[in-house]
Amino acid sequence: MTANAPIVVVGAGVSGLTTGVELLRAGLPVRVVAEEIPGRTSLAAGAMWGPYLVEPWAKVRAWSLVSLAVFQQLAESAETGVRMMSGVEASRHPVEVPPWSELLPEFRTCDPAALLPGFVSGHRFTVPLVDMPVYLDYLRRRFLELGGEIETHRVQALSEFESAIAVVNCAGLGAGELADDLSVRPIRGQHVVVENPGITEFFSEDTGMSPDLVCFYPHGTTVVLGGTAIDGDGSLTKDEAAAKGIVERCAVIDPRLADARIVEHRVGARPTRPEVRVESTRRADGVPVVHNYGHGGAGVTLSWGCAQEVRDLIGDVLNERRG
Ligand SMILES: Cc1cc2nc3c(=O)[nH]c(=O)nc-3n(C[C@H](O)[C@H](O)[C@H](O)COP(=O)(O)OP(=O)(O)OC[C@H]3O[C@@H](n4cnc5c(N)ncnc54)[C@H](O)[C@@H]3O)c2cc1C
Repeated sequence: MTANAPIVVVGAGVSGLTTGVELLRAGLPVRVVAEEIPGRTSLAAGAMWGPYLVEPWAKVRAWSLVSLAVFQQLAESAETGVRMMSGVEASRHPVEVPPWSELLPEFRTCDPAALLPGFVSGHRFTVPLVDMPVYLDYLRRRFLELGGEIETHRVQALSEFESAIAVVNCAGLGAGELADDLSVRPIRGQHVVVENPGITEFFSEDTGMSPDLVCFYPHGTTVVLGGTAIDGDGSLTKDEAAAKGIVERCAVIDPRLADARIVEHRVGARPTRPEVRVESTRRADGVPVVHNYGHGGAGVTLSWGCAQEVRDLIGDVLNERRG
């Protein structure tokens, strides 16, 4: 191990890049190593702040709250791709107020009479919306400006990095294989990106556990339409029928979307685990390994909270070693 040996972060999705930025901000040398930059799933996200398909609540609450504060700050600068956006989440059946509502001061229940036909309950709130291609590019630039290094190749095992002072596993769906953890599974998701026909608010339908989601997120000149959630499916090829269904379902909510020009299709596989794993372990040779994966449908929402916890865990193990 050399004096300038880096911390190696495996993965360059939202988890890896955010973790890299937090470690650099703490004054630690970081090298991100990833097969794809940026991570495909992160690129495919909508992305709205909201704890979806992710457990356990107590930790998710704390991580989400940290990220909310960071995204609120980032939204002050257009180059980040983050915007604070108001909109409605509605349901065709009565639903409880979601537990995360207490984190949003502007959250309020809608008058059912004001909802679209067929909907019986709904909530209006303001949250960060993240234009992922713009945001991931911003994160990568920030990481490089802070002095981080990036390498592009596939990692076979976390033991590969012999000179690293610590290794962080942010490999998304690939993290399970690197950690011998069979509990990570894909939940496939697809989005259609269209030219914005004038939409200025997000919409999301609470469809329960249905694989056919209904949501749209405006990002200036484009709108991301969603979506799907196919449990156990990790394939990343575009499904034409799914794309058609997404546009049709969104056009029921806002008919302007029916003929909006399609500019892109995005497909990703949510890296899902019964519980998100942010945990410190050690390799056989004693080098600390911190895991940060299993973020399911909320990796953007959890990104800053989890990255700060990784930073703290790394700080603890490095201090133990010095002490
Ligand atoms: C359709 C869709 C909509 C979503 N909407 C939202 C939303 O609105 N809000 C929200 O918060 N979240 C949302 N998510 C979830 C979110 O996208 C994920 O939780 C998040 O992107 C996971 O990020 P990650 O960095 O862990 O993984 P990824 O983005 O998958 O990145 C993994 C990285 O690890 C690398 N890697 C993997 N294995 C190896 C290996 N062996 N060697 C080297 N590199 C490796 C990859 O190349 C990649 O760089 C959505 C997901 C999808 C698919």
